[in-house]
Amino acid sequence: MSIISDDNDFQTQSTHKKNPVVKPEAIEFDKNFENSIRPKSFDTYIGQSALKDTLKITIEAAKRREKPLDHLLFYGPPGLGKTTLAGVIAQEMGVEIKITSAPALERPRDIIGILMSLQGGEILFIDEIHRLNKVAEEILYPAMEDFYLDMTTGKSQTVKTLRVPLPKFTLIGATTKAGELSGPLRDRFGIIHRLEFYTDKELSQVIKRTAGILEIEIDEKGALAIARRSRGTPRIANRLIKRVSDYALVKHDGKITEQIANESLDILKIDEFGLDTTDRSLLKLIIEKYDGGPVGIETIAAAIGEDARTIEDVCEPFLLQAGLLQRTPRGRKVSPETYRHLGYKTKNANSAQQSLF
Ligand code: ADP
Repeated sequence: MSIISDDNDFQTQSTHKKNPVVKPEAIEFDKNFENSIRPKSFDTYIGQSALKDTLKITIEAAKRREKPLDHLLFYGPPGLGKTTLAGVIAQEMGVEIKITSAPALERPRDIIGILMSLQGGEILFIDEIHRLNKVAEEILYPAMEDFYLDMTTGKSQTVKTLRVPLPKFTLIGATTKAGELSGPLRDRFGIIHRLEFYTDKELSQVIKRTAGILEIEIDEKGALAIARRSRGTPRIANRLIKRVSDYALVKHDGKITEQIANESLDILKIDEFGLDTTDRSLLKLIIEKYDGGPVGIETIAAAIGEDARTIEDVCEPFLLQAGLLQRTPRGRKVSPETYRHLGYKTKNANSAQQSLF
């Protein structure tokens, strides 16, 4: 797998941006850690069974026809395994994958360069594909549809258009916001799939697999305790197991049990729903300052000091799925369940019965 840009690594990227003094070695370590635990085949890729079944058939058919796969679009919240799945598909097809992300394709020459570097059958993975600019999109259209590039040479009156053929390749796009993809781009994907949040059982399998690779001792209940607080997301499960393992090592004998997992996750302020301090500040703000909502996303973002895009992409999908937040045309609202979960008496109560902060 060759990585053209590592922008696809949400963890690494955000750490780097928020903390410019992070040493390059630390980023390298994170990347190596990610790569060491990333499943490489369908057998080790846990969950998403309906999607895997469909893909297996598509891959088998493409192999029998000796043709590249149709272009694929995966959408869903960050950390659910879109990049990993693209790598698995490449492995199963027996082809190389080149990984990049839309923000790295700012200039026409970026996308042209990548397209021209592809070999027949190879996979090009573009993360955050909804962020592609118009020019890059227009270069992609004929490349995806008929495998050629329209290049212009010369100036003003002497300008000529050159049609450059490309090898047949497969584009795999990933996005957290399928709705923001332009219609013409979306229409050029033959296969479009949504990745689902994982069940606690599936996440506990992810956790046990990662523990095995990292040589961390964990029992069944310990794995399930971490899974329950991982917001249905393998990336979070993998992050938490490292934190819990540190705690188990320093405070106990290194083995992760249910009690140790719960103790350390309490210390990390991750509650039994998997909500962290940011999630709780967001929900608490809507309850206390806006009587449960609705309130606009920009107002929420400014009040809790978070970026609106991060809230929409990272916090909201799980809160919506868990029924703790609702999206309405007039803004975000909380549900009665949110009041109960955060320890408020009723919808109209203005003060917290018990604060979770
Ligand atoms: P996305 O591209 O959707 O943001 P990634 O593919 O980068 O997510 O996955 C994040 C992390 O979660 C990876 O390190 C990978 O090891 C792990 N992971 C994702 N999906 C699975 C899965 N189905 N089984 C096991 N681990 C997974």
